[in-house]
Amino acid sequence: MQLPKRAAYVVVGAGIHGLSTAYHLARELRKRNAGTGADVLVLDKAAPGAGASGIACGVVRNNYFQPAMSELMQACVEVWESDPEAYAYNPVGYIALGAARQEADLTATYERQERIGYDSELIVGADAADAHMKDLFPDWRAQGVTVCLHEHQGGFAFNMDSVRGLYEKCRSEDVSVVTGVEVTGFADSTDGTIERVETTQGTIEVGEQVVIAPGPWAKRFWKMVGMPDTIDVRTPAGEVIPDQPMWTYWNLQEGEVSIDPLLFAKADGFAPPVIHLDTDAPLFTDDGRLVTDELWGIYFKRDRHGVQGGASPLVVEDDVELDPYPSTTDIDPAFPDMWCAALSHSMSRFEGCRPLYKNARSGGVGAFTVDNFPVFDYLRPNLYAVLDSNHGYKMIGVGKEVAAVLLGEHSRLLYPFRFERFETGDLHPVSSSPYPWS
Ligand SMILES: Cc1cc2nc3c(=O)[nH]c(=O)nc-3n(C[C@H](O)[C@H](O)[C@H](O)COP(=O)(O)OP(=O)(O)OC[C@H]3O[C@@H](n4cnc5c(N)ncnc54)[C@H](O)[C@@H]3O)c2cc1C
Repeated sequence: MQLPKRAAYVVVGAGIHGLSTAYHLARELRKRNAGTGADVLVLDKAAPGAGASGIACGVVRNNYFQPAMSELMQACVEVWESDPEAYAYNPVGYIALGAARQEADLTATYERQERIGYDSELIVGADAADAHMKDLFPDWRAQGVTVCLHEHQGGFAFNMDSVRGLYEKCRSEDVSVVTGVEVTGFADSTDGTIERVETTQGTIEVGEQVVIAPGPWAKRFWKMVGMPDTIDVRTPAGEVIPDQPMWTYWNLQEGEVSIDPLLFAKADGFAPPVIHLDTDAPLFTDDGRLVTDELWGIYFKRDRHGVQGGASPLVVEDDVELDPYPSTTDIDPAFPDMWCAALSHSMSRFEGCRPLYKNARSGGVGAFTVDNFPVFDYLRPNLYAVLDSNHGYKMIGVGKEVAAVLLGEHSRLLYPFRFERFETGDLHPVSSSPYPWS
């Protein structure tokens, strides 16, 4: 498709957020303009799903200790549930299992879910949690688990299929999606309003607003719009911590084992929920080698070719080369042993699965903000940033909220993610989870 010289709305990035924003915006504009097509343009330097959205494990869950994340996720799950077929969404549910130190967090999360009407169940106590899991999977054998949060909503979606579904929805609303065009800069007026988007194929005049949804390329765009590399962060207690790096990269460790997917089914034969297990029970490989005796965690789900999932990510010390994305070479060599040992620790059906570990296109880099939570905000008078701190495949509904904001509405759900929170100390509470995204 030819690059137009002008567009009312320019969205940069054809991942889950860029496409969802463009679709919901175009839909809303058509409704408001009595059916007239909307002038929304999406640009991507590669192709839809070429970034993190096309590699994501695809887990959709509400398990967040932070009230604002939990409420936003409830709205996102509603979007997933609105068209499971187009979004390739599997509403199989999600189970989080934790060690004693996570009981209070998971209980608080459950109580909030109950208040907001998110369908879940809490099981506390080692014997009760074990019985709940054995009911679902008779060969369940994980140790050190004292709490289980079973979310009956959520599940997972197939990453590229849902991106394609969103792309088709964009096309049905006459959104133009132009690929192979890299955005290289922005030209602004004296008050900072973006007037033109500069690309490798020419300049586009902006009629109304620009949205950036660049996934792991967030830091690059942060610089492009003149935002600082480091910021001062005020804690909720009022202490100011100076010069914190705004962006950090983590390498997400993920992989899969090639087994007959039907081997991973519930006792009733139906598809299993996504499982996230954290425990401090010692972890051994099947041949008896100690992997760790500290808190460890894995997540896994049934996939088309077997079982897929991951473990704790690794922080990357320096800037990373993101082109092409992703880099699978940085997977910790110890990861396959650990992850397969953990699968076997969970259920005896996975015993001996290590030789079936597959070096598939899995895992990749995520860009995390200074507090590990998203920034959804205007960075310029007409430039809105969707920077999800790697939380966001599941956040398909953020684009719907962003579209409303672009059209002048207030979003109660996005407000807690404004950039100003670092200055005012309105930070999100921190959980005892070992992951940067819980
Ligand atoms: C291995 C892994 C597993 C994950 N698993 C999950 C999960 O199970 N559940 C979950 O909720 N989240 C998960 N995430 C996080 C999730 O994938 C991301 O938060 C989300 O996909 C980000 O979406 P996005 O639309 O912002 O970015 P992306 O999908 O990365 O899209 C950004 C797009 O911008 C384009 N682009 C970049 N720079 C330019 C430029 N200069 N000009 C034009 N285009 C540009 C890229 O080509 C890309 O297509 C995972 C992430 C990783 C890495």
